[in-house]
Amino acid sequence: MKGARFKDVYTFADLQDFERTPPNLKPPVRLGVLGDPIAHSLSPQMQNAALSHCGIDMQYARFHIRRDELRPSLDLVRSLVFVGLNLTVPHKVAACEMVDEVDADAEAIGAINTIALREKRLIGFNTDAIGFARAVRSEFSVDLRDLRVLLFGAGGAARAIAVQCARASCERLAIVNRDHEKARGLVASLQAAFAGPRVLGPVARLEAVPWEERALRFQLEHTDLVVNATPLGLNPNDPALLPATLLQPHLMIYDTVYAAHGTPLVESAAEAGARAANGLSMLLHQGARAFEIWFGREAPLDVMRAALR
Ligand code: NDP
Repeated sequence: MKGARFKDVYTFADLQDFERTPPNLKPPVRLGVLGDPIAHSLSPQMQNAALSHCGIDMQYARFHIRRDELRPSLDLVRSLVFVGLNLTVPHKVAACEMVDEVDADAEAIGAINTIALREKRLIGFNTDAIGFARAVRSEFSVDLRDLRVLLFGAGGAARAIAVQCARASCERLAIVNRDHEKARGLVASLQAAFAGPRVLGPVARLEAVPWEERALRFQLEHTDLVVNATPLGLNPNDPALLPATLLQPHLMIYDTVYAAHGTPLVESAAEAGARAANGLSMLLHQGARAFEIWFGREAPLDVMRAALR
């Protein structure tokens, strides 16, 4: 790959080539995001703006890495002069078992989205949790601690969000998932954090809720913040997670999905007169925290935000 041009998306085969013949790119690739699919990821434009602003002579790339290619990819990266990586769907949970160390916060979540390379060792972190809390604060000027949260999803992102809600000791947390048993499992793992003495009247402080209209209608009466942590909305033909007829103006809606075409949930919220935000702010804040882990310095948040616009 000598003299190679920068590619929008690299593959596992390219990564193998990186080891044999490091590509002669200026600035060199030292960071990247691994996922499948990956073409939609906005992390490169955000991180490359930050690197350039800070005068760091390296670039961040996208890698299309399938599930069965993750372990060999991480093994290859260990021997390259990389600074770190981000991981996205479907790698966040599986990678926990493949890195050399997982920090305590990420261990509690059971998923990593950031890896730092230190002396050829891969150290895993989770920046989605703090990214979510900062995004909610910046979008709605509220703290999770004061909110009753209705969370959709029980995968990697939802686990990070649920653990962050527990850490913040939010007012209440109800979890809804297509596979109800997974929602119940997540609730069971958080029981101790919600055992406090708050009195909430007719609703439990922590519960798994079936994905049924009647149950959701009841839950929404006892909710301040609705969070979509499923991929519903990523595809332009996806239905809205909740129709406008179920939503009310008092609600705040946070859709972790970000899509150039807008998201159906944010549209439903607008129709119902509710405040809503898409996942760009979470992407920004999780990325800023990752930058801080890699370089031990403050991330240029305004530059990163502008690059995402
Ligand atoms: P996972 O694959 O780990 O989990 C996906 C979750 O969504 C599961 O709970 C799954 O339910 C549910 N789900 C999948 N498809 C559907 C569907 N068609 N209808 C209803 N539920 C569905 O993915 P992640 O948790 O890592 O990511 C989920 C989404 O969160 C991503 O697609 C991304 O858009 C968003 N995200 C955004 C971030 C940001 O910075 N803005 C950061 C991280 C994630 P089941 O258990 O039943 O399979």
